[in-house]
Amino acid sequence: MADTILVIAEQRQGKLHPQSWETLVAGQQLAEARKARLIGALAGKGITGPTEEFAAKKLDEMWGVEHNLLEHYTPDGYAAAFRQLVEQLRPVLVLLPHTYQVRDFAPKLAASFRRGLISDCVGFSQPAPGGSASGGDGGQTVFIRQMFQGKTNADVEPVGAPPHFITFQAGAFRGDQVKSGDQKAEVRRAEIKLDSGQIRTQPGELFREAKQAVDLTQAEIIVSVGRGIKAPENIEMAKKLAGLLGGELAASRPICDEGWLPMERQIGSSGQTVAPKLYLALGISGAIQHVVGMKGSRTVVAINKDAHAPIFEVADYGIVGDLFEVVPALIEALEKGSTS
Ligand SMILES: Cc1cc2nc3c(=O)[nH]c(=O)nc-3n(C[C@H](O)[C@H](O)[C@H](O)COP(=O)(O)OP(=O)(O)OC[C@H]3O[C@@H](n4cnc5c(N)ncnc54)[C@H](O)[C@@H]3O)c2cc1C
Repeated sequence: MADTILVIAEQRQGKLHPQSWETLVAGQQLAEARKARLIGALAGKGITGPTEEFAAKKLDEMWGVEHNLLEHYTPDGYAAAFRQLVEQLRPVLVLLPHTYQVRDFAPKLAASFRRGLISDCVGFSQPAPGGSASGGDGGQTVFIRQMFQGKTNADVEPVGAPPHFITFQAGAFRGDQVKSGDQKAEVRRAEIKLDSGQIRTQPGELFREAKQAVDLTQAEIIVSVGRGIKAPENIEMAKKLAGLLGGELAASRPICDEGWLPMERQIGSSGQTVAPKLYLALGISGAIQHVVGMKGSRTVVAINKDAHAPIFEVADYGIVGDLFEVVPALIEALEKGSTS
């Protein structure tokens, strides 16, 4: 019988988390490469809508894991519920999106099977039958994880008996590449036994994100600063450039974490997703969490003093140089241009 791959999706208040689609894309590609059955699962209460939505994609089966005690997320509830589902379906791989929620319960779920969790993967490679990508002879899927802030990748091969638990980083797969099914997958309901004594935490109020005051998604030109800008006072220079170009100012996450610019100007997986005509990246390395938020830009210009910075992989034009030399020169040229 064919192996089973289980994709665990995530919903909040009945709305699917976008990373669920990305994980499904990974699952579809893996199922194809391994000729495996692909099953989806979603937990909660009153989740018929998102369960059906997921079932419309290319899957062999979809399981709704519903219970009164799953109405609000708790790590104990989710780990116990998915443990029962995994025991029943006996998948070889359990794939999850690397969201905050998954990071909370997936280690507990994996540990309950005495298995590790290969977390935050950015891809996989599937050796041809009879060979292994990492040089072994297991013919196993090899998962790719970034190390040292993305400077190098590690190939990780799960060892021991399945199930193996894998999470995928935001942006590692493109959610818009999810394949629809020829027909809707059969939706099944998991019979889960849970009692309130198993759940040791009480969920509080849901965290509400601050209302966006700046809508960068509408900007045609964005000048975005990264840690290469070095100090908050230097942001003035980028602001001036943005003003001269008639664009908006944005930033990578560390700049917003430092409070140098407000959170609403953050681009990336935990910030805004933008698609301007021009995206000018100043001193931004190009970490995947940043790139997922700007890779839809029509033209990307990157200024970075490191010729090997990953931002150059998505840039249409790259300047390998010191932004403290290049940006003043650009400002001077634009000022001259506007007066001549
Ligand atoms: C769950 C999670 C979510 C995340 N979400 C986001 C997100 O939404 N958005 C985001 O941006 N990040 C996000 N991150 C962080 C992300 O992984 C990176 O750490 C971050 O994007 C790096 O920011 P940076 O490129 O500004 O800094 P760095 O990686 O430190 O890069 C600075 C760059 O500046 C260059 N530089 C230095 N000096 C100069 C100079 N004088 N002239 C030219 N170039 C120079 C360097 O060569 C380097 O490439 C997230 C991380 C996690 C774990």
